Amino acid sequence: MEIISEIVSAYAEAYTSPESDLLNELNRETNANVLMPRMLSGHLQGQLLSMISYMIQPKQALEIGTYTGYSAICLASGLKADGCLHTIDINDELTQMVNHYIGKANLTGKIKTYVGNALDIIPTLNETFDLVFIDADKINYAVYYDLVFDKVKKGGYILADNVLWSGKVLDPESAMDNDTRAIAAFNKKVHADKRVQHILLPVRDGIMLIRKL
Ligand code: SAH
Ligand code: CA
Repeated sequence: MEIISEIVSAYAEAYTSPESDLLNELNRETNANVLMPRMLSGHLQGQLLSMISYMIQPKQALEIGTYTGYSAICLASGLKADGCLHTIDINDELTQMVNHYIGKANLTGKIKTYVGNALDIIPTLNETFDLVFIDADKINYAVYYDLVFDKVKKGGYILADNVLWSGKVLDPESAMDNDTRAIAAFNKKVHADKRVQHILLPVRDGIMLIRKL
């Protein structure tokens, strides 16, 4: 189910700053050559991530779920001059493509890629983050939230993508599959967490924007 009607999406994209040539190329190459291209953030969400990055101007940022690097390039756009985006993906088949586009975007010194299971890698990162983007396996969203929480600075932000999961979180719990159940539980967990302010943005597939108090 498309949560936002196609005509509204098209209008929103038409009145949003255009996708850069580089991101357009990465988008097209992902669609042509990579499995599950729907996972890529895309034009509208990419511009939102970039805008948020410019607003926060993070020194240290973390992305869980690089895929082909589209959202990483957007999230890195507003980094401080000496800032760094750390991005993790378990799929080593995409690393070459990701590094190619990071190079083309002149972000080689600003984006650090990690290949492996985020559950193992996050505990090894000795950084304090201004911004974290959770976008890997849905089943572990609540675990990622707990793993990163103490590494997010006071007043820092956590974003979680796909929190509407094509609208399936609206189903009765008995009808939910495991991923849907995990996302619904994540949304409940954040909503009950007194340590944060949060807003569920119905953009694309739903983005939970969380500020640590
Ligand atoms: N952020 C990207 C899309 C990410 S798709 C964008 O917006 O363009 C989700 C990614 O999470 C996939 O590439 C998948 O390989 C990765 N992933 C799944 N489980 C993971 C895990 N346990 N650790 C790290 N990455 C994982
Ligand atoms: Ca996503």
